[in-house]
Amino acid sequence: MKNDQLKPATIAAQAAGATDKQTGGVVPGIHLSTTYQREPDYGLTRPDNVYGRDQNDTVRQAEEVLRQLENAAATLLFPTGMAAVAAVFRALPDGARAIVQSGIYWGTLKWVRDFCARRGIILEEVEAADASALTEACRSSADLVWIETPSNPWLKVVDIAAAAGLAHKAGAVLVVDATAATPVLTRPLDHGADIVMHSASKAINGHTDVLAGVLSCRDQGAAMWQAIAMDRHDAGAIIGPFEAWLLMRGMRTLPLRVERMCANAMAIAQFLDAHGGVEAVLYPGLESDPGHAIASQQMRGGYGSLLSVVLKGDRAHALDVVGRLRLFHRATSLGGVESLVEHRHTIEPHTGIPETLLRLSVGIEDAGDLIADLAQALEGA
Ligand SMILES: *Cc1c(COP(=O)(O)O)cnc(C)c1O
Repeated sequence: MKNDQLKPATIAAQAAGATDKQTGGVVPGIHLSTTYQREPDYGLTRPDNVYGRDQNDTVRQAEEVLRQLENAAATLLFPTGMAAVAAVFRALPDGARAIVQSGIYWGTLKWVRDFCARRGIILEEVEAADASALTEACRSSADLVWIETPSNPWLKVVDIAAAAGLAHKAGAVLVVDATAATPVLTRPLDHGADIVMHSASKAINGHTDVLAGVLSCRDQGAAMWQAIAMDRHDAGAIIGPFEAWLLMRGMRTLPLRVERMCANAMAIAQFLDAHGGVEAVLYPGLESDPGHAIASQQMRGGYGSLLSVVLKGDRAHALDVVGRLRLFHRATSLGGVESLVEHRHTIEPHTGIPETLLRLSVGIEDAGDLIADLAQALEGA
């Protein structure tokens, strides 16, 4: 059976067939060498291995797992999600036009604004979850359309296939940050995206102990992908072999973790939605959510582990609730096996995040325990 026909659970559990060829080990080794030998005739012992800045078998194996999970032509790992974001924008020529979804991950927006200003790139921030706004923005030609679905922390859902159609008509490449979905729930390339990006520091690794980013493409020969690959090779934004190995270990349970996290998140969203102290729950899994219909089309097997809840009352009350939580760790980030809570307004006070919004990253703990913790925190001391 061709590996590309296997289901995600099999690809992940067996790390896309990686074993240790030298020892016969079921688990592959970690290759740390920064340089590679040449033969007496000065030919390379392995023609694809010259120097460790871009050529490492452990990194390649982790990339192969992700390539198969994404159904991609090629995959490149980066030392962080932001390094992957930067690699895409650095591939744009000066004076390019980039359409970027508004209200997405703040780290991306902040860096992109600064970078585009310095490089003379025309940046247009558009509410891409609103089809008419994206249609309007794509009327003039563009080089790049960047969307994030579901978005962080607003949980807005963008129709990837529709966005791909609009981007391509404008002559642009569509890149999708699918960090909150993971390749288990959504494969953006199957919906027409050109490149998919993830912060692998989140659910893909899942254990809150590796920083990594990843890009995968539909067409390896495309000019933008070639530029990205050359930039990684020449500029050296490469993940270390130890991180790549840990990532591969984490990914063995990715489909299993995502399944449990989605079930927990749905149970929590429903509990919060019915709670008297709650103003609104932002989660595409809820039928009342504006993104539910599109999410149901392009997400398979669940709606993700990220959700936001807007509480009734004021900022002080919201912070009190956060302070009373015992199981949810008060910390940024998402996608780990342990649940996290974040008061986003404290982190980005000037971007329109409500003072009573709490962002929850739901882990794999017992759903009943998590709900009981939220219940006691909402009731008060
Ligand atoms: C965390 C995150 C990033 C940045 O990734 P790092 O690995 O932290 O650099 C980008 N996009 C989204 C949606 C994220 O959640």
